[in-house]
Amino acid sequence: MASPLMTTYAPADLAFERGDGAYLVTGDGERFLDFGGGIAVTALGHAHPHLVRVLTDQAEKLWHTSNMYRIPGQERLAQRLVACSFADVAFFTNSGAEAVECAIKTARKFHFHSRTADTGGPRYRIITFEGAFHGRTLTAISAAQKPAHIEGFEPLMPGFDQVPFDDAEATRNAITHETAAIMIEPIQGEGGIRSASWGFLQTLRDLCDEHGMLLIFDEVQTGIGRTGKMFAYERTGIVPDIMAIAKGLGGGFPVGACLATADAAKHMTPGSHGSTFGGNPLAMAVANGVLDIVLQDGFLDHVQTVGRRLHQGLVVLNHKFPRIFDSIRGEGLMIGLKCRVPNKDVIKAMISHKMLAAAAGDNVIRLLPPLIIGDAEIHEAIGRLEQACADIDHRLQQDEEQES
Ligand SMILES: *Cc1c(COP(=O)(O)O)cnc(C)c1O
Repeated sequence: MASPLMTTYAPADLAFERGDGAYLVTGDGERFLDFGGGIAVTALGHAHPHLVRVLTDQAEKLWHTSNMYRIPGQERLAQRLVACSFADVAFFTNSGAEAVECAIKTARKFHFHSRTADTGGPRYRIITFEGAFHGRTLTAISAAQKPAHIEGFEPLMPGFDQVPFDDAEATRNAITHETAAIMIEPIQGEGGIRSASWGFLQTLRDLCDEHGMLLIFDEVQTGIGRTGKMFAYERTGIVPDIMAIAKGLGGGFPVGACLATADAAKHMTPGSHGSTFGGNPLAMAVANGVLDIVLQDGFLDHVQTVGRRLHQGLVVLNHKFPRIFDSIRGEGLMIGLKCRVPNKDVIKAMISHKMLAAAAGDNVIRLLPPLIIGDAEIHEAIGRLEQACADIDHRLQQDEEQES
């Protein structure tokens, strides 16, 4: 029978009935160690008791009112996000792409109102980087310009200029009198866990200050503790003017946010932007529940500690299987394994040993486990990965023997 679903996804032939911490469980009771985390989303694992409680409590009270009325959960969440970041204000969305959209609109609006007789027309162009991923709306694919994502969807949204990642000179050369902002993921996620260097980010900040441009960080994947800091920008101390977050913010409930300084957002006035669902009471209850845990004393230290332990275990595997792995990248619990064999083959072998991970660009496997894992899950992950690698290594050896 033909599937009634659009064929946009090519899922593995696996379905899960429930989740429990770092595990996903099939209808037959098979337990998979989930180190894909639904692509960095289930930051507190599956069915975290606190999140279940705040969601069900809210579900019994109120689901939706629209932004025609004050939503106390929004005010509380915004206040907490502002308190733990550079930002002064927040706008809530339902997804990462919408958070990016709000960031872009905020930058354009800022410049629209700051234009003067000497500067002429509004500055609206945004510099973005090769290998970027900002979501799948027309604007987000226009910003990232990944050929496979834009083919067939043109014409694109105008106003994006792309330069190589981590290339300061190319960035400087791309600036014109129309450039409004620079937008970057401090660590590219889909692009293959590629970290921008400190010097490069500092150059971007300097260029923005020098030319009156806004610096936008897309922390949809890196934010909410993933890298061992609340936000990845804290690792470098280089602070943006606008930031998009989502994924981990809801721990599995769809919610995103655009954070900004008061100055950058000063022209986002009533009527200039909106969302029917954005910031609804259910999403706000869950996101506040996520922050209850992530902002606890010692939680981010825990992420750093387990991140280091997982990294150490992977270094050993990297040495043991030089035909499979090339190198290990990333920060905290956002780890990339650069492969020498096709990453999809390794992921398949991992599935046969009941472990899940996410593929990324540049032939990388992403490990994005829940931030609540401990030594037991790390030990198990290394064990299962080792078995998957042993299978692949064995196959590689057989192929070599056949050739010789
Ligand atoms: C996932 C992701 C997005 C898009 O988020 P959606 O919720 O899928 O729209 C944007 N930017 C980055 C860096 C991401 O990783």
